[in-house]
Amino acid sequence: MILSETIVALASASGAGAVALIRVSGPQAIDLVADVFQPVKNKDLRKQKTHTLHLGFIKDDEKIIDQVLVSLFKGNNSYTGEPTVEISCHGSTFIQQQIIQLLLRKGCRMATAGEFTMRSFLNGKMDLSQAEAVADLIASDNEASHQIAMQQMRGGFSNEIAKLREELLNFASLIELELDFSEEDVEFADRTAFRDLVNRIQFVLKRLIDSFAVGNVIKNGIPVAIVGEPNVGKSTLLNALLNEERAIVSDIAGTTRDTIEDELVIDGIGFRFIDTAGIRETKDVVESIGIQKTFEKIEQSQVILYLFESLKFKVQSSEYIIEIEKIKNQFPLKPLVVVINKIDLLSETEILNIKKQLETLNVKLETISAKNKEGIDTLKKQLISFVNTGALRNNETIVTNTRHYDSLIKALEEIQKVQYGLDTNISADLMAIDIRQALYYFGEITGQVTNDELLGNIFANFCIGK
Ligand code: GDP
Ligand code: ZN
Repeated sequence: MILSETIVALASASGAGAVALIRVSGPQAIDLVADVFQPVKNKDLRKQKTHTLHLGFIKDDEKIIDQVLVSLFKGNNSYTGEPTVEISCHGSTFIQQQIIQLLLRKGCRMATAGEFTMRSFLNGKMDLSQAEAVADLIASDNEASHQIAMQQMRGGFSNEIAKLREELLNFASLIELELDFSEEDVEFADRTAFRDLVNRIQFVLKRLIDSFAVGNVIKNGIPVAIVGEPNVGKSTLLNALLNEERAIVSDIAGTTRDTIEDELVIDGIGFRFIDTAGIRETKDVVESIGIQKTFEKIEQSQVILYLFESLKFKVQSSEYIIEIEKIKNQFPLKPLVVVINKIDLLSETEILNIKKQLETLNVKLETISAKNKEGIDTLKKQLISFVNTGALRNNETIVTNTRHYDSLIKALEEIQKVQYGLDTNISADLMAIDIRQALYYFGEITGQVTNDELLGNIFANFCIGK
């Protein structure tokens, strides 16, 4: 990573728009832009104050490329922590390219993916978990994931880890000091206070590790499998939930052989609906592949919506009840909602009869008409009830990043070794090793411990210009 180079990239979305933003960062940023910028008021850009705006022209020799607005960030008062100039130009891709090409010729280098944010990290403007939150923030497409990314970016999670790390570091030095006096059998590190710290750390680590289950679901959406025989109305239901015609609805049984996935945000929580082919026994090869796929999809989902057609259910209820029990036994821990569709085809009494028959099964039951959009809201509420958003509402820290999760697990393992050492009175030198190891994993999260490969992996997932 060469911080002495000055980098340039388009920071706004690629393609044409009303305006575009070109970001230049690095030691030469202001000099290089000043070379091609002619301010309307004829002032030297280099002599202007930080955080000021300047109107002028970008010129390639005598040729004017565009009239632009330049924002100046001097010293380390910028996102990247180094001199930065942001050029707002007109949004044509031609102008964007002309300006970037010009700056490259003048000595800038094209920024790599995430390099602005990586510099921000390397220059101490944010820690690693905050930098990663920037990527999440850009990718967040619903209220909940946005809230989590925002909290992480503001440092909620890393502050907590950094504080514990510091306390632990303190004890590590005291214990290591004891090693220097090993002949004299002294204890600089108060073992009672240390025990207390080790307990607190375990508590926090466990809470953060547990939060990952919630965080992961919120970040990626909750997968819901819609299961049912061909023609029960899966696609119609999906459309009703999505409120648009994305899935294919057809009258020919068995047409939904390919699974369709679609996303929907209910109450700020993302759901991923997976339309499956049902589990009807069949000799048809294509269909039996579909059934196998259905089971795989159920396996991967967190909620099962099991759909039946009201008219058929009326006639074949005993067969269907066996099917429901089969699914319940196969996936005992997955929330299951039995949905009777097409209730517009039955009388009130017939619907009541079905409800009675299913009472003993002790499953959640919804009666709907997907076609008439009846009962859809109740079904949505039912779905929401499966999501534990308690942590989110209480504004607790939620871990969403797999890398952090892995480091937290490893840190907990090490801390448990330290705990064991305390319980069994092991020697200070062995204890010191475990503590150092735990500190290492803490540091991995916040970026106090890094290597080029790790950084490369993290920032490669960013887009260029961020
Ligand atoms: P899929 O094979 O399970 O995806 O079923 P589709 O969504 O393709 O629906 C099959 C047929 O049932 C279509 O003709 C739909 O219009 C019809 N259908 C779906 N929902 C309802 C409903 O609530 N009432 C009635 N009467 N027909 C429905
Ligand atoms: Zn379908």
